[in-house]
Amino acid sequence: MFCGIVSGDVPGVKVAEDEATFAFMDINPASDGHLLVVPKRHSKDLFEIPADDLTAVTLAAQRVAKAAAGVFGADGVNLLNCCGADAWQSVFHFHLHVIPRYTDKAKDRLVLPWKPDVPGDLDAIADLGRRVTAALG
Ligand SMILES: [Zn+2]
Repeated sequence: MFCGIVSGDVPGVKVAEDEATFAFMDINPASDGHLLVVPKRHSKDLFEIPADDLTAVTLAAQRVAKAAAGVFGADGVNLLNCCGADAWQSVFHFHLHVIPRYTDKAKDRLVLPWKPDVPGDLDAIADLGRRVTAALG
């Protein structure tokens, strides 16, 4: 689907593009001005995208985020990537969400699905951290 937006076969509201990336408006916006940035070359997800495309998409997302925040008077921005259906990925072409955030909740419908101020079990957290470190080799 996003390959079709990049090629122009599927309609989309293009905001910017460069050699490697394409930015367009999300048609299911979590806030006013919600954008998506994708690599032009197809990659399924975070695990598959080559480093050069990931770098290009991230830098493009930063540029678009600054422009969007400025023009919309946003009070903050979230960058979001979903990798896998259980992580809410619904289009399997890597994309970064650029979501302007507002104090004015009339423009901002994004709410956290978890309570970020609830402390976890520190021993369990340390154990999980050690497992990731070991997996990194
Ligand atoms: Zn694609």
